[in-house]
Parts: sequence; C-alpha cells; structure tokens
Amino acid sequence: MSLGLPSRLPGTPSIGALIREPAPTFSFEFFPPKTHEGERLLWQAIRELESLKPSFVSITYGAGGTTRDTTVAVTERVATETTLLPMAHLTAVNHSVAELRNVIGRLAGAGVRNVLAVRGDPPGDPMGEWVRHPDGVHYAEDLVRLIKESGDFSVGVAAFPYKHPRSADVESDTRDFVRKCRAGADFAITQMFFEADDYLRLRDRVAATGCDAPIVAGVMPVTRMATIERSQQLSGAPFPQALLRRFERVADDEAAIRELGIETCAQMCARLLDEGVPGIHFITLNRSTATREVWQRLAPAEVATAA
Ligand SMILES: Cc1cc2nc3c(=O)[nH]c(=O)nc-3n(C[C@H](O)[C@H](O)[C@H](O)COP(=O)(O)OP(=O)(O)OC[C@H]3O[C@@H](n4cnc5c(N)ncnc54)[C@H](O)[C@@H]3O)c2cc1C
Repeated sequence: MSLGLPSRLPGTPSIGALIREPAPTFSFEFFPPKTHEGERLLWQAIRELESLKPSFVSITYGAGGTTRDTTVAVTERVATETTLLPMAHLTAVNHSVAELRNVIGRLAGAGVRNVLAVRGDPPGDPMGEWVRHPDGVHYAEDLVRLIKESGDFSVGVAAFPYKHPRSADVESDTRDFVRKCRAGADFAITQMFFEADDYLRLRDRVAATGCDAPIVAGVMPVTRMATIERSQQLSGAPFPQALLRRFERVADDEAAIRELGIETCAQMCARLLDEGVPGIHFITLNRSTATREVWQRLAPAEVATAA
C-alpha cells in the first residue's frame, strides 16, 4: 500500500545509487542524544565532520524503539540545517505497522528518502526472546517491504560478517540476508568488524548466491579497552585474538591504546579500499576526533575522491 508520498524530492540523492557509483562512499553514524549535554556533543561532532564532506550520515533508532521522536527530529534537522545527506535508521521492535507507517510518513514529510531498515533487539536484553508486536512485522525483510511500498525510498539493511548472533550458522544467515535484498533492499551496512578478511568472506558468500547488493563496511576504531568489550556485545563474536593480544600489551597506556586503535582501523580501511569496498561507514559514537584521525591516515587520493 502506498502512503501517497511524492516521488523522491528533487535534489535528494538515493544512497543506494551513490553506493553503486565507482568511487567509494564515506559516511558517519550518530545516535540520538538523551540529554542536553549529549545534544551539544552530537551537534559539535556533526559540525566538525561536516567539513569532511561525507557521502551521507545516519542516525540510529534507539534500542527497543525508544527514540522515535528524537531520531526523526535529528534526521530532519540534519536535512534542513546542514549540507549533509541524512539516513534514518528504523527498527520494527515494539511498533505496530500503523506506527511504522506514521514514522515513515514523518520522515518523508521532512524530505528524508533514505532509510536503514533493521529489526531491532528486545529492550533490556538484546539476546532475549524477540516478540513481534501483535500488529507489527517479524523480520527486517518485512520492514523493507513496508518502506518500499510506502514511497520512493532507498532502503538499506544490516549485514553481519560474523553472522547474526541469533543465526544458527553462516549458511542460514546468508540465506536470510539475501531475502532482505530480494525484498527490495538497495544496499547493506555491516556490523562493526576488525579484520578485513571477515568482511571479504561475507562479501564472497553473498556474491556466491548471485546477490549483487553492495555491502558497505561498518567500522569503529578502538579507542579504549572498553570498546573491545562493547564490540563483542554488539557483534556477538569474540574480538580477533591476535589483535586482542596487541591491545593487551598496551592496556595500561591510554594513549597507546588509542594510537593502536586508530592505526589498525586505518590499515584495515586501506585494505578494504584496495579490495574495492563500495563504502566505509564510521560508527562515531557522536565524537569526531577518532573518525577524523582515521580519515586523515587514509591515502589522500581516496579522501580526495570522497570529498
Ligand atoms: C549497520 C547496523 C545498524 C543498526 N542500527 C540499529 C539501530 O539504529 N537501532 C537498533 O535498535 N538496532 C540497530 N542495529 C542492530 C539490529 O537491530 C540487531 O542486530 C537485530 O538483532 C537484527 O536486525 P536485522 O535487521 O539484521 O534483523 P533480521 O534481518 O530480521 O534478522 C534477525 C535474525 O532473524 C533471522 N531471519 C531473518 N529473516 C528470517 C526469515 N525470513 N526466516 C527465518 N529467520 C530469519 C536472521 O538470520 C537473524 O538471525 C543495527 C545493526 C547494524 C549492523
């Protein structure tokens, strides 16, 4: 069912189309703030990163569907008050189809035509039982269809280099990923990972199915030992052991951890670019410094192409 939304606003690029262009995209991810101080930090980071001219930026949707209004408001403000191209994340958890349609309509009303469709995790315990809202959808695949039916949106989905923690094996994980693409997803962004080979294996197994959806690499530099623990919670996979040992050797030295994190992230991005990755998506945690440092260490030619 169409919401009767206008076709893509003139001048609002499709991220799916940008990612299919020959030059790799560079993009930044932010989360909606909960406090005034958080809002100040977010806008400081957005303004500082704006000068790097990223291809697009994305705004996450709070765990458990908790930030509906803030996500829409921040995305709208990015669309109207900055030169950046915003993408809103949207999750299915705890929302009826009517509520999802309402959010999609609000995004369209704000001129947002790029949405990352993810299922979301149960509030509280991400690995707890996933209970569909009685009038909602079950999988991200259904959310992709809903958004696509609602108007002229470019829709992205999540991909998991280490497989999704709920998937029994990589085969079923790959099969379910391809279903999302066949449901209409234009591109994907991965969960964070720390070794280029993990991304390349995902790309190869998806390509082997005949699916040609471009898969953007989601990256986050380690800046503290706590980042490693957090990454394990988010990805559901152990941090690569050899790399972990390198961080453990400097665990008492905050500056050395940070330097190692920036350097290894930059090296991984450079390898991914050599391997023809269609884009790199930086998870910024609403701070600009680490992302800018990785950016600056990438080959000038790559940065120039992106800008
Ligand atoms: C780039 C990125 C951005 C994210 N942004 C957010 C965000 O803004 N807010 C937030 O709360 N969370 C976010 N997440 C986390 C995401 O919501 C969780 O990882 C969630 O558990 C999975 O979402 P999904 O869209 O991959 O779900 P799905 O694709 O629905 O998959 C969930 C599980 O079900 C299986 N599955 C899928 N389809 C089928 C089917 N038809 N039949 C049987 N099994 C199936 C999959 O293999 C997988 O194991 C993000 C993740 C990534 C990688």
